[in-house]
Amino acid sequence: MAQENKLKTGPRESVNYPVQVVYCGNCTMPIEYCEYYPEYEKCKQWLEKNLPREFEKVKIGDGSDSPAGDEEKKRQKRGGKGIIKTKKKEEGPKQVCVSRAPRGKKKSVTVVTGLSTFEIDLKVAAKFFGQRFACGSSVTGEDEIVIQGDVKDDLFDVIPEKWPEIDEDLIEDLGDQKR
Ligand SMILES: [Zn+2]
Repeated sequence: MAQENKLKTGPRESVNYPVQVVYCGNCTMPIEYCEYYPEYEKCKQWLEKNLPREFEKVKIGDGSDSPAGDEEKKRQKRGGKGIIKTKKKEEGPKQVCVSRAPRGKKKSVTVVTGLSTFEIDLKVAAKFFGQRFACGSSVTGEDEIVIQGDVKDDLFDVIPEKWPEIDEDLIEDLGDQKR
């Protein structure tokens, strides 16, 4: 039989090769793959008969009470929980922050951050603020708009009115920025 020839010319069990591939006589796959073969039970029978040493290894790896298997399961469980936690962090807290910043001796500007957490187009928002307060308003950062004027208190009414998804409670007053 061809398979017997293969075994004869293949690596001997008594020698420790770096990579020792032993083929299964039932499914002809390397025996590591036997468990994916539908007739795994037949493979095991073949192994028991022809390669008792390999069969012992398979039996050990197959056992659900092996410490290695338990450790693997625990790790997977922990990993799963971790992923959920991370996802919640990414989703959470949506918040808009407003603050007053000094500009010149008497003037103040209003800084609005966090609008992009509500997926609001900052350019559109800046234009809206400029029209609403009749003053300069521009996007100054990745998620920052500066309005040329002290309109911080008005924003608590204006923002929820314009974007109903932003409740007044979701706007954080950071107060006055230091010079
Ligand atoms: Zn097999």
